[in-house]
Amino acid sequence: MKISKRLQTLTPKGDDGWGVYYKAMQMIDDGVELLNMTIGEHDIGTDPVILEEMHRAALGGHTGYAAVPGIEPLRRAVAERTQRMTGVETGPENVLITPGGQAGLFAAHMLVCDPGDKALFIDPYYVTYPGTIRAAGAQQVAVKARPETGFQPGAADIDAAADGAVSLLINTPNNPTGAVYTRKTLDGIAQVCKANDMWVISDEVYDSQVWTGSHLSPRALPAMAERSLVVGSLSKSHAMTGSRLGWIIGPKDAIAAAANLSTHTTYGVPGYIQDAGLFGLSLGAEYEARIAAPFRRRRDLVRGLVAQQSFISSIPSDGAMYVMLDIRPTGLSATEFCLKLLEEAHVATLPADSFGTAAAGHIRLAMTLPDDQLVRAVSRLLEFATAVRQAA
Ligand code: PMP
Repeated sequence: MKISKRLQTLTPKGDDGWGVYYKAMQMIDDGVELLNMTIGEHDIGTDPVILEEMHRAALGGHTGYAAVPGIEPLRRAVAERTQRMTGVETGPENVLITPGGQAGLFAAHMLVCDPGDKALFIDPYYVTYPGTIRAAGAQQVAVKARPETGFQPGAADIDAAADGAVSLLINTPNNPTGAVYTRKTLDGIAQVCKANDMWVISDEVYDSQVWTGSHLSPRALPAMAERSLVVGSLSKSHAMTGSRLGWIIGPKDAIAAAANLSTHTTYGVPGYIQDAGLFGLSLGAEYEARIAAPFRRRRDLVRGLVAQQSFISSIPSDGAMYVMLDIRPTGLSATEFCLKLLEEAHVATLPADSFGTAAAGHIRLAMTLPDDQLVRAVSRLLEFATAVRQAA
């Protein structure tokens, strides 16, 4: 039977830089002990205190259909968190609860793109971005951010692609680069979005993981709230990846339209998950800082190791759970480097080819190993790079 072209072409054919990942998974299945820095997920599970609340809520009967846009107290708690972090007045009517940030990214594009519309995104990018835009029926156009600027996207580059575009998807703190967009970057983005009458879809799922400076949302810039859709999630801030609890924040009428989409797609998020998320949010900013702390500490460990040599350099990782290394001096492509490192040193990383074309010659480390293993993995990686140099 026929399968729609839209789904057949959702993701490109070929391994798209993910061959190294599949190989690492195969090696793990075969019993090889790897130091695995491929995937961005905490090395801890969801806190038992949050799970107990989920259990209590389920046993208490919150197992029927829940309010489709999200239960009022959770929408209010998300609004309060956003207002506290950004200073922008936000109420429950500005918040739609979604099954994770990913569903929020899809709903945001469905909300603003008509079939065939041009939707911009920044390369390097989180792996689902092009497919998400295509799934919404839009035409995805990448704008490159460059290593020379620490992967801060340039306003002129966005402007050059903006003619006829309806939206720009950005991500700060950034996966895969660890960049946190500066005020200058965001001012430039705001100016281009206003000049071209574009929405900004701002993926802020790592907003609790900022190591240098502070998180700035484009929604907080002058006259930007009316054209901003912010995507957030408890996946990273509360180590709740498997609970699938996220949101979109935006203008009231846009949120109402997105809620109508939820009625026809997800029909909302289970009530006991929302109750657990509400409890998680009630633990406050200090709790979020505690969940983020290992990544800050590990970022410093990685930086310390990289600073002990001058051959391989790192992109300043100012946030999120990733560090990017520039391995161009080895003369290997990122994919060659990652494959050899995997086979010869049993350290698994991802080539930047998995995240677009802008970061060619870079590799991404997810700092999701316990500290001692992380130090061992990065030390092995740097020794491996030095050996490649000596052999050349
Ligand atoms: N955006 C970015 C940049 C991510 O890294 C992720 C998850 N890795 C997501 C969105 C989706 O997160 P979730 O659906 O778990 O909220």
